[in-house]
Amino acid sequence: MQISAIEIRLLTADLIEPFNTSYGSIVERRPIIVRVFGDGYEGWAECPADVAPSIHPDPVAAAWDALELQLAAQVLGTEFGHPLELKMNDPANRVAVAALEMALWDIHARANGLPLWHVLGGADRPVPSGVVVGIVDSLAALGDVVNQRMDEGYRRVKLKIGPGWDVEPISLIRSRWPDLTISVDANGAYSPDQHELPNLDGFNLQYIEQPFPAPDVEESARLAESIATPICLDESLTDRSRVHAALTRHPGFVVNAKPSRLGGHTETLAVHRLAVDAGADLWCGGYLETGIGRAHLVAAATLPGFTLAADISASSRYWAHDIVQPEWTISDGALTPTKAPGIGVAVDTDLLERLTTRRVFLEV
Ligand code: MG
Repeated sequence: MQISAIEIRLLTADLIEPFNTSYGSIVERRPIIVRVFGDGYEGWAECPADVAPSIHPDPVAAAWDALELQLAAQVLGTEFGHPLELKMNDPANRVAVAALEMALWDIHARANGLPLWHVLGGADRPVPSGVVVGIVDSLAALGDVVNQRMDEGYRRVKLKIGPGWDVEPISLIRSRWPDLTISVDANGAYSPDQHELPNLDGFNLQYIEQPFPAPDVEESARLAESIATPICLDESLTDRSRVHAALTRHPGFVVNAKPSRLGGHTETLAVHRLAVDAGADLWCGGYLETGIGRAHLVAAATLPGFTLAADISASSRYWAHDIVQPEWTISDGALTPTKAPGIGVAVDTDLLERLTTRRVFLEV
């Protein structure tokens, strides 16, 4: 395979409703869509720099520049037999590396006539998935939202929490749905000298995710050792070495593997291996992706070591119209990967064009 051209697009797309977490409200997405061309095939991926954690003051501009000015030149004209052979390096912009790397996995899978999940080593199986419920105005509104999600077919919920929005909302949802699988995500909103989190130990939560600000591991390990509820790490796990260090410190951590945060599928495969070797529970998370990024998450989440439900929800959770066909749907609490080559969904190029605010086409 030789990559002959790369198209990079910036989209602006409204979410169907605002998404609120402990760090703020998201009303629109600005994903960068990467499309690679080679040997008569194409591959697609998405860079969610606008919502992923970043060290850059303007993360979208930084990811765009990394893709256009640095990473594209490392790939254009390069011959490769398998994406595992590729060595792209810009650790300062891992989310940009991930987008180009995942597009190369897609084109590789398509050129071989195989679904991406198969090429990654996954299985043809439904991916159990929960839905994330953001912070809302009132307990009554929270009850209504969770009710609606149950009606939509979800069987697991993850509640976003923060100081002042934890015990009461969790208590309400647990009392109304005694058997529901519930997890909570603090997005690092608690400081280690706050002591609310042990109060969540009686609600039979699947895990408490990222209690303290990244890059914390130590305080999370201490909390995990003092309560029965498992602690999951997300923002603190930026690459395989961080995952290895965390599981060495506390093998009971739950690992949230987000391919865009880790740098792509190759790094996700390495993290998957570490989690399997440590006997740690693992699940696949994302960043409010369009159907393109969502397709990559579904493919990765079919790997056998992903033991817990993903939080990859249906297209309709975020989008009035997704940019792929078929759109992603949830059925009996799971998403099902297609058997079509590559990411398995077709990009709606008319809608893509309408949402595009910036485009560059780079050729050998
Ligand atoms: Mg999280």
